[in-house]
Amino acid sequence: MTLDSHIITILKSLHDPLSQQDIVSAGIVQGLQVTPSGKVSFVLEIRTEYMKNGMTLKEKAESLLKTLPGVTDVQIALTAERKSKAHNPSKAALPNVRYILAVASGKGGVGKSTTAINLACALTTMGLKVGILDADIYGPSLPRLIGLNQKPTSDDGKTMNPITAHGLKCMSIGFMVAEKMPAIWRGPMVQSAFQQMLRQTNWGELDVLVIDLPPGTGDVQLSLAQTVLVSGALIVSTPQDLALIDARKGLEMFLKVGVPVLGFVENMSYFLCPHCEGRSEIFEHGGVHKEAQELGVPLLAEIPLHMAIRETSEKGTPLVFENPDSPEAGVYKELAQNLWAALTPNHSNPAHPVK
Ligand code: ADP
Repeated sequence: MTLDSHIITILKSLHDPLSQQDIVSAGIVQGLQVTPSGKVSFVLEIRTEYMKNGMTLKEKAESLLKTLPGVTDVQIALTAERKSKAHNPSKAALPNVRYILAVASGKGGVGKSTTAINLACALTTMGLKVGILDADIYGPSLPRLIGLNQKPTSDDGKTMNPITAHGLKCMSIGFMVAEKMPAIWRGPMVQSAFQQMLRQTNWGELDVLVIDLPPGTGDVQLSLAQTVLVSGALIVSTPQDLALIDARKGLEMFLKVGVPVLGFVENMSYFLCPHCEGRSEIFEHGGVHKEAQELGVPLLAEIPLHMAIRETSEKGTPLVFENPDSPEAGVYKELAQNLWAALTPNHSNPAHPVK
């Protein structure tokens, strides 16, 4: 075996968590050169979002190659990969909305909508102006979560006034049509219903618009995420393996459309007993944490499985609104703070209401 092939074998032992391939097959290693005197140099092309992961990869590659007989020097440069090719230039921002945050999940039933509404309430406790858009056309949940189902009014016959509840400006197809009806709608109708709710709602000035995406990572979710200038995404998952696999798909979906994934949330992370407040690790704890670390995405919160979270959701008064000083509400508030920090990384936009 030549020195070159030894080097490639070593590099192939390193794994790219995103593509599930080795770093050579994934095209991360570029411009490999080996001089006759044994100097090895190459570039690691890493997506901007994965730079932290890239640093670890660089260190690993360096230390492995340095032990190889015949190698005298190793020089590895880390560069950011060009923007995702599928980046859609026609995405339009909303005029008076500072940040658009998409809340997604790989599959249904993981508590995405519950997290989205409590997060939205927690953002308002920071003095921010917040709206929430329920993008699930087939199974809207927002009217139930806020305990209100009234038709939006219109002053001009063209735009709709959002429903205001718990300090939030809310919009959902559920305010406008009978619960079961949208199931017969096809893709283009879903798309245009979403666009209308997004762009023809009088949101006014908002610091954050939370978009509660439909569950899953199919075409509908992709095109919704693609047609609006999303500032960042949050992926909600439960600790079970299957949910994690789906969460990974969610991450890939956002990368495809050039939306930064700000973090994961592990929902139903552990059980908090409503009687004694004792903590039980029902599922193997720490799964999302490990996955997040491997993928180089921060884990922003671990939300307990707690009766009060479900009960308040069913009553239409989200926990953070009903009982803002409870420990469970504290978890959502911490999530809100972490997210706000991720949205405004250089702290140039302190948490204050827009003027
Ligand atoms: P999704 O939007 O992912 O389909 P939902 O938010 O509708 O999921 O949640 C599914 C069910 O789980 C709801 O009954 C909700 O009240 C409940 N639930 C969600 N998160 C929690 C939690 N952390 N503790 C207790 N119940 C929860």
